[in-house]
Amino acid sequence: MEIILTHEQADFDAAGSVLAAWLLDPARIPVLPKRRNRNLAAFIDDYKTRLPFFTWNNVPKGKIHRVYITDTQKIEPHSRLDDVRDYVVWDHHPHRHVFPDREENIYDPTGACTTFLVEKLMEKPGLHPGRIFTTLMLMGIYEDTGSLSYGSTTPRDIRAAAWLVEKGADLDLMRRYVLQPMTDNQQAGCERLIQTMETYEIMGKNIIIASADIRTIGDEFSAVAHQLRDMFNPDGLILLLAVRTGVRIICRATTDDIDFGAMMRTMNGGGHSRAASGMIQVEYMEIAEAEDVLYDAREAVLENLPNFIKNQPPDLSGKLNEQIPAEQLSLIHNVADCAEQLDMPVYIVGGVVRDLLLSHPVMDFDIVVEGDATRLGQQLISQYGGKLVTHPQFFTAKWQMKNDMSLDLISARSETYSSPAALPTVEMSDIEADLHRRDFSINTLAVRLDGEYYGKLLDLCGGLQDLQDGLIRTLHNRSFIDDPTRLFRAVRFEQRLGFEMESDTLRQIREQLNGITGLTGQRIWHELRLYCDEEYPEKNFARVVQLGFAAQIHEALVWNEQIEQDCIRFRETVPGKFWQNLSGFDFDLVEADGALWTWLSTFPINTVTQISERLLLPKKEQHCIEGLSMLRAEFPDMIRNAPSEITYFLERFPSESLYCYALFCTEPELDILKQFVNTWHRIRPSVTGNDLLDMGVQPGPEMKNLLTMLRSACIDTDIQPEEEIEWIEMFLKRGLD
Ligand code: ATP
Repeated sequence: MEIILTHEQADFDAAGSVLAAWLLDPARIPVLPKRRNRNLAAFIDDYKTRLPFFTWNNVPKGKIHRVYITDTQKIEPHSRLDDVRDYVVWDHHPHRHVFPDREENIYDPTGACTTFLVEKLMEKPGLHPGRIFTTLMLMGIYEDTGSLSYGSTTPRDIRAAAWLVEKGADLDLMRRYVLQPMTDNQQAGCERLIQTMETYEIMGKNIIIASADIRTIGDEFSAVAHQLRDMFNPDGLILLLAVRTGVRIICRATTDDIDFGAMMRTMNGGGHSRAASGMIQVEYMEIAEAEDVLYDAREAVLENLPNFIKNQPPDLSGKLNEQIPAEQLSLIHNVADCAEQLDMPVYIVGGVVRDLLLSHPVMDFDIVVEGDATRLGQQLISQYGGKLVTHPQFFTAKWQMKNDMSLDLISARSETYSSPAALPTVEMSDIEADLHRRDFSINTLAVRLDGEYYGKLLDLCGGLQDLQDGLIRTLHNRSFIDDPTRLFRAVRFEQRLGFEMESDTLRQIREQLNGITGLTGQRIWHELRLYCDEEYPEKNFARVVQLGFAAQIHEALVWNEQIEQDCIRFRETVPGKFWQNLSGFDFDLVEADGALWTWLSTFPINTVTQISERLLLPKKEQHCIEGLSMLRAEFPDMIRNAPSEITYFLERFPSESLYCYALFCTEPELDILKQFVNTWHRIRPSVTGNDLLDMGVQPGPEMKNLLTMLRSACIDTDIQPEEEIEWIEMFLKRGLD
C-alpha cells in the first residue's frame, strides 16, 4: 500500500497537494492530519462526502510500502510508519536533506506545492477533476501565494491556477473559505494583540510585535495574523501567543527582505519567508507567569530577527552623481530613461562599480541591459539622435553621438567553455548569469540605473565584502581552467589594489597555472602589455615570476634585483629634450610596451628570440627587444671606442631600442648615448659621391669605403668642410703610394 501524508496543522496547500498526488494515482491513500487550520477544516466539513481523504484512524489495514510526503519535509511519527523505508518527498520548501536523496524527490521552489503537482495533472490527457477538487487545489495555490501576490509567486503558479479555473474551479466558493471572517474568539484575541502592539525599526524594516495570552481563547490565529498584517501593513508582523505549552510564534512579512521561514526553522518551526510559525516551549506555565514568558519570547525574537533581514542594497546614487563626469552622467541618465520606458533593467557593471566603491576615478562604462541591447540603442537614437552600430552576433551595440562620444550597450549574457582556454560560447541571458560568468567577485558588482532602482547595488557574489576585505576571489573552482588569462588578471588587480589572493583562489592558481601553455601567444602578450599601463608594472612582472606563470612561457624568464632596478629607472626617468634630435620613432609604442621590453631584454639574444616566437610578437616589437638585448650585452664594452665606431654600432638598432635603453642605463653609457643622439649621428661629410666621381674615383665599394672613412674622420676629428677635399686627395695619394 502507498499513502500520501502532509504536515500537521494542514492548510489548503497541504490538502491541495495531497489531493493532487492522489489524482495522479488514485491507488494511493490520501491521509490528512486531524489538526487542520480553521478554513480548511470548514471546507472539509462541508464537502467531506465528496473528498477522498482519510485520517490515520481509517487508513485501511495492511503493510505500508511507500509514503509520499507533500508540502513538508517533517512528518509526525506513527507506529504504522515504523518499518517504512521508502519515502518520496514532493515539496516546495528549500531542501533540508531530511530524507535520502532519490530521483523521484522533488524540491521545486514554486509559490505553492500544489502548483507543480497540478502541472503533472495538466500532462494527463482527458482528466476532469470536477468543481470541488479543482477549487480545493486552487485554494492551495491562492493561500500560499497570497492570492498570487507574494514575491515568491511564480508564473507557473499563475498558469496552474488558470488551468484549474478552466477545468471548473469555482472562484466564489474559493472566496468563501480562503477569506473567512474572524470568529468571536479570534476577534477577542485580535483586540488583545492590538493593545500590546509595539513597532520596531530594525535594519530599516518596520516590524510590529504583539503578544497575548490566548490560553482561555484557543482557536486558530493565522487568520488573525493575516488580518493584522492587512490592517497595519508593516514590513514584518510577529504574534507571540502564550499557549499551554509555551509561546506560539506567528510571523507574516510583506517584503521578501525578511526570511521568517528561515528564522522559524531556528525556533522549532518553519514555513515560507513571508508566512511562518514556530514555538518556544516551556515546561509548565502558571497563569500568572504568562506575561514574563511573553516578555522573554519578545526579547528572543528581537535578538534573532536581525539575522534574517537582508541588508538593504547600498545606494550608490550619490557616488554615481559625484564621481562620474557630468557629460557621461547625462548619458547614463539618458540610457536609464530609455531602459525604463522599455521596461528593461539596465546596469553599469564590473570594474567601473569596483572603482566607484573604492573612490577611484572611473573611465569606461560597461552598460549591461537585460534584453536586446539593439532595441535599447534604437530607443536612444530615436530620442537623443546619433548613430547605432550593432553587432547582433555579439549581442552588443554602440551608440555614437554627434559630439564624438560613444557608449557600448551589451545584452546580459551567459558564457560556457567547451574546452579549457577556448573562447566561450555566448548566449543572451539575465543579469545573474552575466555576473556569474565574470572573473573575480570584486568585478561582479552591478549598479542598476533604470527608474526607481537608480543607484541600487546588486551584489550576488559577495563582491562588496571582498572589496572591503581586500581579497581577489574567483567565483568557482574551474575559473582558471576555463580561461587561464584570468591568472594574469588576478595578478593585475592584486598588485593594483594592494589586495591579497583569497586562500582558495591561491590554491587554484598554484594547481592550474599550466593552463598558460594552452594560451596563444597573442593572448599572453595582451595580458602582459596591460601590466605596462599599471602604476608599477615591475611589481606585476615580479609576481608572475614568483607565482610561476613566467616559467610556463619560457623557463629562462626570471626576476632579480637588477631587473627590478632597471624597470624602476625606466619608469621614473623623464626623457631629456635631446631625444627630439632623433626623429621618426614610435614614441607611443615605447610608452605602451617599454616596461616589458626592459624586462625581456635582460635575457640573451637567443632567449629573447625564443620568447618572441612563443608570444608571436609583431616583428617590430621583436626587433626592438632584440636590439635592446644586444645593446645591454655589447654597448658597455664599446664606450671607449672611437666615436665613429660607436656611431656605426648604434645606427644598427631601431631608435626605439636606443630610447628605451637610455631610460634605464647609467653613466658613462648614457653620456655617450647623448653625444651620439645630439651630435655624431647627424654628422655627414659635405663631399658627395658626385664630387668623388669628378675626382676620378670609380663607383663601387671603393667609393663607399672612402665616403665612410671620410665620415669617420668628420666624427672623430674636427675636420672642416673646406678641408674634406684636401683630406681625400691626401688619402688617395697615400693610397696610391
Ligand atoms: P580595468 O580597470 O583594468 O579596465 P576592468 O575590471 O574594467 O579593469 P576589463 O578588462 O575592462 O576590466 O573588463 C570589464 C569587466 O569584464 C571586468 O570587470 C570583468 O567583470 C569582466 N571580464 C573581463 N575579462 C574577463 C575574463 N577574462 N573573465 C571573466 N570576466 C572578465
